Amino acid sequence: MIVGLWYEAPMTPPDDPAPHRRDHVTRFAPSPTGYLHLGHAKAALFAAKYGAHGRFLVRIEDIDRGRCRPEFEAAIFEDLNWLGLTWSTPIRRQSEHFADYKSAVERLRDQGLVYPCFCTRAEIQREIAAADGAPHGPDGPLYPGTCRTISASEAHDRIAAGESYALRLRMDDATRKAGVLTWTDLGVGPQTATPQMFGDIVIARKDVPTSYHLACTYDDALQSITLVTRGKDLFEATHVHRLLQKLLGLPTPDYHHHDLLLGPDGRKFSKRDQAPTLRALRDAGRTPDEVRAMVTA
Ligand code: GLU
Repeated sequence: MIVGLWYEAPMTPPDDPAPHRRDHVTRFAPSPTGYLHLGHAKAALFAAKYGAHGRFLVRIEDIDRGRCRPEFEAAIFEDLNWLGLTWSTPIRRQSEHFADYKSAVERLRDQGLVYPCFCTRAEIQREIAAADGAPHGPDGPLYPGTCRTISASEAHDRIAAGESYALRLRMDDATRKAGVLTWTDLGVGPQTATPQMFGDIVIARKDVPTSYHLACTYDDALQSITLVTRGKDLFEATHVHRLLQKLLGLPTPDYHHHDLLLGPDGRKFSKRDQAPTLRALRDAGRTPDEVRAMVTA
């Protein structure tokens, strides 16, 4: 049995959502880069349960134009339907809102908190290798700051010459400006934001005028999400999102990061592990109830 390979990490199901806010607005925000698997089912059911007395929304996080495909998006809705979920409309599709993200980035730029970065991945890696013992953050070694001190006129000339560039946040200045920031995780309680651990993050990629962090933070506010639910693998990302909320004048929702489904090696269960997709389970004769039980037991 395929599913016997995996076991459920302990999870506190939100049977008793915080009594002071039973009308949560939640969302499930998959990227259509493959078929949904059990980990997604868990995330979707977790969000839907919390949103049951309020609203449960779906957002398609498809900024990665190279990896996202329409057939995967169609499959998301089919699979959620099959699981027995219903959601409120409208559905937000991030690829349709690049102009919104661009203007949010402009607002950061106007505050002097953004700089263009011309580095290629290979250049960054070389730089990190050369700097013995580069500091690490949740996503790996921190950006070494190569482009941070490029003058405005040099940046202007390079952009005019057609060089491609990403936009990075001046993390030191941004955190200094933002001051002390807190947020609440319903699972583990009050948190003080420490986005510095990520260094100068990319807020607009070379290929698209946004990044996951910016689009997600912006959309959570735009969709009036009151409780962001997602896996614990994104717990640290919330520190960055809290900072962006402050800098962009957006409200701060509550958060609940749920436990992840783990593979037999104790690591996160993911597409890369060839985790069984919901459609493979369905084709193998599993019922929606059985799949729900697998991820919420
Ligand atoms: N699109 C992200 C993913 O599929 C989820 C982001 C989020 O829930 O904040 O992992």
